[in-house]
Amino acid sequence: MSEEYDLVTIGAGSGGVRASRLAAGTYGAKVAVIELPFGFVSSETVGGAGGTCVIRGCVPKKLLVYASQFAEEFADAEGFGWAPTAPPPDVKKLIARKAKEVARLNGVYGQILSRAGVEVIEGRGVVLDPHTVEVRATDGSVRQLKAKNILLATGGRAVKPGIPGAELGITSDEALVLDNVPAGGTIAIVGAGYIAVEFAGIFRGLGYDVHLIVRGTSPLRGFDEECRQVVSENMAKRGIQCRFQTNPTKLERNADGGIDLHYYNNEEQAGGILKCAQVMFATGRKPNTRGIGLEDAGVQLDEKTKAVKVDQYSHTNVPSIWAIGDCTDRMNLTPVALMEGKALVATLFGGKPTVPDYENVPTAVFSQPPLGTVGLTEQQAIERLRGDIDIYISKFKPMKNTLSGRDERTFMKMIVHVQTNRVVGCHMVGPDAAEIMQGLGVALKCNATKAQFDSCVGIHPSAAEEWVTMS
Ligand code: NDP
Repeated sequence: MSEEYDLVTIGAGSGGVRASRLAAGTYGAKVAVIELPFGFVSSETVGGAGGTCVIRGCVPKKLLVYASQFAEEFADAEGFGWAPTAPPPDVKKLIARKAKEVARLNGVYGQILSRAGVEVIEGRGVVLDPHTVEVRATDGSVRQLKAKNILLATGGRAVKPGIPGAELGITSDEALVLDNVPAGGTIAIVGAGYIAVEFAGIFRGLGYDVHLIVRGTSPLRGFDEECRQVVSENMAKRGIQCRFQTNPTKLERNADGGIDLHYYNNEEQAGGILKCAQVMFATGRKPNTRGIGLEDAGVQLDEKTKAVKVDQYSHTNVPSIWAIGDCTDRMNLTPVALMEGKALVATLFGGKPTVPDYENVPTAVFSQPPLGTVGLTEQQAIERLRGDIDIYISKFKPMKNTLSGRDERTFMKMIVHVQTNRVVGCHMVGPDAAEIMQGLGVALKCNATKAQFDSCVGIHPSAAEEWVTMS
């Protein structure tokens, strides 16, 4: 029997939950959201209200970042008069506690939906036609839902490169459970984006021997060049071995039960083998758009990325079908999916067509210390503003490092458009960069000028005060 909904959402990740909750709770729409049950973690597993961010991404990752940071807190404490102490981490206990928190949040997300009046249906959602979604439950039962509108919010998943033996390696999904890696063992991380850099810091802080296999000459392509350099130096100082211009060519199980990572180094024009306990691929993610009936429903996908093609209102080429979040491969960040979900329901149910605003989206890489950024990089500013820019840089030893003796400096860069005096980019690598950058994001959204930054009184003593005293 068919039931008619105003909106049927496939996927209860960040975007799907936000859109469904607002559609039902704020606009009174009849909404159902379909999601697979929360299950064990493997690179192909999906499921669980909260989606990638809550279950396999941002949240568990950040908990592990916190855990790993204690290594340097213990090291720094000595300079402040504490007796030297560095107990080894109990990784099993950490993972169990993290899993409990993730399960709690999964429950919270389910409640958020139910309280807003959204019907949560467990199973795999498959689009049968522009107004029908079939729910295939794990027990084999099938149910069809009629929908005025269908929202695709199916997210994405990690991909491994097509090299021989790639199946032996893991992705961030499995890395979050830190299974089968002996304490202090060697872990190679292939890639140099957000995920690779963040996990390099996590594993190193927890005591593993970490090698970052980078095919380029520095990590974090697309970020400010000097920040990339500083992140690289900070990783090296922590004992992370960055192998630049290095491509993995093959993985093989070795006699010790570990993995031989075969690689080729372009600079040396020579290959080699790295013996690892584990190899993690952080080589990007791709949209979850297969096996959910999109081809049959006539939904156009990007030829290369297989992302759902949408216009600025998150509308697909099929009038009743919409898509938000990582399955559209626009800007793959949780807060961006939230923005897209909110804009979509304002368009669909609020009588107010709303376009998400992708300008000045602040973001952070939780490297150690973190990198925070908002606005244009220097290179982008040179191109877009025809070089009409001033650059302000501050490099300093954070106060904490005086007594701790840690040999590390904070780096800040501000980019100002000369003609308008507007601050068009802020980039920072240093403690609290993510926290600081959120506030600067608001300033850039308000088109703040350098003069306005300078007129703001600093908070002393803090690192953040440097942003209002740059000259
Ligand atoms: P990214 O696309 O950011 O980075 C992929 C990395 O893998 C790049 O360094 C790339 O190199 C490298 N790579 C790709 N293919 C190969 C290959 N065949 N061999 C060797 N290296 C390869 O992906 P991530 O997986 O790091 O992150 C995915 C998304 O998740 C990001 O878009 C990000 O927005 C989001 N995310 C956000 C976080 C946050 O906000 N803090 C945290 C984690 C993820 P190259 O640069 O040369 O192409």
